[in-house]
Amino acid sequence: MIDARQGIGMTSRRTRDRLVQRLIDQGIQNGAVLEQIRNVPRHLFVDEALASRAYEDTALPIGLGQTISQPYVVARMTEALLDGFEGETVLEIGTGCGYQTAVLSPLVKKVYTVERIPELLRKTKQRLRDLDIYNVQFKPGDGWEGWPKYGPYDGIIVTAAPSELPEKLLQQLAPGGRLVIPVGPPGIQDLVKITKRNDHFEQVSLGAVSFVPLVKGK
Ligand code: SAH
Repeated sequence: MIDARQGIGMTSRRTRDRLVQRLIDQGIQNGAVLEQIRNVPRHLFVDEALASRAYEDTALPIGLGQTISQPYVVARMTEALLDGFEGETVLEIGTGCGYQTAVLSPLVKKVYTVERIPELLRKTKQRLRDLDIYNVQFKPGDGWEGWPKYGPYDGIIVTAAPSELPEKLLQQLAPGGRLVIPVGPPGIQDLVKITKRNDHFEQVSLGAVSFVPLVKGK
């Protein structure tokens, strides 16, 4: 017998376990990241009409022409950002619905996040409060500029794709800091991780991805 009180259904433990297992099968290894994917209620980040698909490993539309990122990509980016991470602060560009923010924020001390659509940001702020997430500071603005006020940052994560690396984000990296960012035009984007060393930037490619563009200007 299935006990309905255990929440068997689209948002159940079993559905989430299946998603986590899929990410493990695809090579995600960081246990804390996997635990976050299991715990963050992704169905609360999408429209109710799409809630039944929230634990599929796929990007979904969230209105205003934007999308919620695919869980695998969120896990991959978070894992890359946190690999050997000893810092405290992370700058996130492209808050969107805040799913990436919710996965990341309990794993670091403080997240500063920038989103260019104020309406989206307002809803996301409320959503994260409802989830008892308090170590996030929000700013409506242009991610190409970063957020100089609180920099430099130990990590920067960008969830929209610029055509080329934004110079200002590189400038806002602390020594040893890392930037995880998709770069390139639609259809041919590469996810890269850039680490700031003493006298140079070290760059590794993490593979092909597909993001909405990082829009230039307001
Ligand atoms: N992080 C989200 C996905 C974000 S989609 C998640 O977890 O699902 C990309 C977001 O980047 C969109 O909300 C879009 O409005 C925003 N964006 C695009 N260009 C931007 C810019 N120049 N500055 C800040 N945000 C930008």
